[in-house]
Amino acid sequence: MRALLLIGLLLLGNGLAQACEFSDVSFKSDFEMAKLDTCSQLSDGAFMLETTPENRPINHSPWYAFKVLAKKPKDLEINLRFDGERPRYLPKISHNGRDWSNIDFDLHDGVMTFYVKATTTPLWIAGQELFGNQKYSDWLDELGQNKAYQRFQLGKSTQGRPIGALLSTQADNKEWLILLGRQHPPEVTGALAMLPFTEMVLSDSPLAQKFRARFNIFMVPNLNPDGVTNGHWRHNVNGIDLNRDWKNFNQIETRIVRDKLNEIVASGGKMVMGVDFHSTQQDVFYTIPTDYTVAPSNLVEDWLAKVKKNTASSFVVRNKPGVSPGRGVFKQYFTDTYKVHAITYEMGDNTNRKMITHVAKQAANTLMETMLATPSSAFYFKDKTSQ
Ligand SMILES: [Zn+2]
Repeated sequence: MRALLLIGLLLLGNGLAQACEFSDVSFKSDFEMAKLDTCSQLSDGAFMLETTPENRPINHSPWYAFKVLAKKPKDLEINLRFDGERPRYLPKISHNGRDWSNIDFDLHDGVMTFYVKATTTPLWIAGQELFGNQKYSDWLDELGQNKAYQRFQLGKSTQGRPIGALLSTQADNKEWLILLGRQHPPEVTGALAMLPFTEMVLSDSPLAQKFRARFNIFMVPNLNPDGVTNGHWRHNVNGIDLNRDWKNFNQIETRIVRDKLNEIVASGGKMVMGVDFHSTQQDVFYTIPTDYTVAPSNLVEDWLAKVKKNTASSFVVRNKPGVSPGRGVFKQYFTDTYKVHAITYEMGDNTNRKMITHVAKQAANTLMETMLATPSSAFYFKDKTSQ
């Protein structure tokens, strides 16, 4: 009977919870975005932890997030391994899961080492600030309070989580700006840019009001809620990189956005610009070259010139034009389908958070100015070779 009960408890219990419980210290991954796969004790107060990807091959972006507790206050040496990868995200700690600070660390042969004091109250350790599904949902609810916008559920993820969206449909002439985010779960700085950017576009400023009187907006801030919850390095729960699925549309997450875009166009809408928010090692705007089948050719160059003029000189505007036909990237799909510009708006992992907000606001304002200065007829691509 006791043996059966024990087996039952083992089956019920999370394997990790078992592996990461030690006599006086425990490492927990019982929260959204948590990621920790194995734990072992090296000596009293020293531990080796590891994060492993959801599947391979995968982009080199090891994500980690966990809590540490001790039965009485204890200084700990934490060593973190990344399944053979170099770490990308620098360790941060928080005492409440909301306010984060960077901590000193050392790195040797792929093992990151840092020192923390564990107590009976949880100490959070993560690669970036935790920005989970609830935060998006609260934010969308807040935006939806304004009756001018429609907050709705676009669909459900592979695991059935709601994928929220927002529409602004005050414009009569039906030109559409599309805003997309969080295809890649750990890319928190992209989210930190997308919120102030969107809030500026939806604000009461005379510029934003004028913008929304001409342009409609469709916004999906969190396309991969399963990956976010499960602490994935990159993919959705089917092990697919969503930003490589915009050609086959094998995943529900990409299909529901595509279907909504099709629906908008079928009811007379005209796509004019798409912005997809991400994070990478440095701040960079991946754009469509001016000589590509895109109209108007100079829209993004003009916009980024204004961003440069209106941001602190310590922010470097890197414009990287390029195309990637057949790779299934949102930017490419949007441009090839609608013959208008799309950009991948990438913020650096370590970019100063106040700078991210500053740039996002300026980027939103200058994009609105640039689009408003563009006549509607200029958003239609004309093949010069056939004229
Ligand atoms: Zn990304």
